[in-house]
Amino acid sequence: MSPPFVPEVRDGRVYGRGVGDNKGQHLAQILALESLLACRGALPCTVKVLLEGEEEIGSPRMPGFVAANREQLVADLVITSDGPVDESGRPRILFGVRGVLSFELRARGANRDLHSGNWGGIAPNPLWTLVHLLASMKNERGEVTIDGFYDDVLSGSAAEQAALARLPVDVAGVRERLGIERLDEPVERGYHERLTAWPTFTINGLHGGYGGPGSKTVLPHEAVAKCDIRLVEAQRADDIFAKVRAHVERHAPGVEIVHQGAMDPSKTPIDSPFMEPIRRAIRAAQGMDPLLVPAMGGSLPEYVFTKTLGVPALTVPYANADEANHAPNENLEVERFFAGIRTGAAMLMYIGASAREGI
Ligand SMILES: [Zn+2]
Repeated sequence: MSPPFVPEVRDGRVYGRGVGDNKGQHLAQILALESLLACRGALPCTVKVLLEGEEEIGSPRMPGFVAANREQLVADLVITSDGPVDESGRPRILFGVRGVLSFELRARGANRDLHSGNWGGIAPNPLWTLVHLLASMKNERGEVTIDGFYDDVLSGSAAEQAALARLPVDVAGVRERLGIERLDEPVERGYHERLTAWPTFTINGLHGGYGGPGSKTVLPHEAVAKCDIRLVEAQRADDIFAKVRAHVERHAPGVEIVHQGAMDPSKTPIDSPFMEPIRRAIRAAQGMDPLLVPAMGGSLPEYVFTKTLGVPALTVPYANADEANHAPNENLEVERFFAGIRTGAAMLMYIGASAREGI
C-alpha cells in the first residue's frame, strides 16, 4: 500500500489515484506528441489537445464549451484514451459509447415517520408507492414498459452486428467471477449486444424507513429511488427523461422526479475510413490486432464531438483490464503506459500518412 497521491512503481505497475483513469492515459498522449516532436521536429498531422477534468461528474461544462468553441475545435477525427483494454489483453477500438441519464424518484407520505400499528392502513406508505411505480416501469422479462422507450433504438448495421459476433465472450467465466447463476433478462439478446447496443434501466438504490439490525415497526414518511438509464443510439437523454416523467405523472402523480445528469450516446460507423489507419497503428505499436467494438457499455461525453461538431470520435483505451479504477490500489502497468505512448505516436503517423494518400 502507498498513499494515493504519491505514485509508486511496484512489480511493473504504477500505483496511484488516477494513474489508469485517466491521468496516465492523458500523459501517454502528451508524451506521444513530445516524442514525435523530438524525433521528427514536426507532427505528422495537425493536433488539438483538449484536456477535461470533470468526466467523473458527467462533464457538465463540456456541451457548452464545445458549442461555444466550434471553430477552434473542429477536426477530422477525435481520439480519446480512457478505460481498459480487453480482459484478454487485446487492444480495442471503441466506436461509440452508451449515453446515461440519472434521476431520483422521491415519494412522500405523512409529515413524519409513524407507528405501523397505530397508523398502518391510514397513512400511505411511500416505499410501497415507489415499489409499485418501479414495477410499472420494467417487467420480469427485462423490458422497459415506459411508453416510447424503445422508439428510437437503432438496430446496428450489418458491419456492427458482425463485429459484435466476433468479440470474445466467456459467459461461464463471468458467471463464476461475479458469483451469479444466470445473466439478467432479456435472455434472447447476445452478451455484447446487451452491453453495447441495448438500453438498460437500473435501480441504483432504494432507500427509506429502517434497514438496521432487529426490527422496527415503522411506517416511513419518505422514500427515494435512485436510477440510471444507459442509452443507445439514437435515443436522446432529454426525450427519455420526458417519457419517464410522463410515466411517473400518469402512474404516481405525487412522486417527484429529479433530473441528476445526462450524456447522450455517441456512435461513429465501424467502417469509418479512419478505422484502417488506427488499426494498423495499434498493430505496429503493440504487435496485436485490436478488437473492433461498436460501443462501450459505459458513458463518455463523446456526443459533443459526434453530434455537436459532427466529427467522428473513437476511443482507444491504454489501461490494463485490472486497473482497479475508482477503487483502492488503482494501477497502470508500466509496459502499457509505454505502449500507450507508442500507440499515440503511431496513430498520428498512420493518420498523417493516410491523409496524404487521400483516404
Ligand atoms: Zn473513471
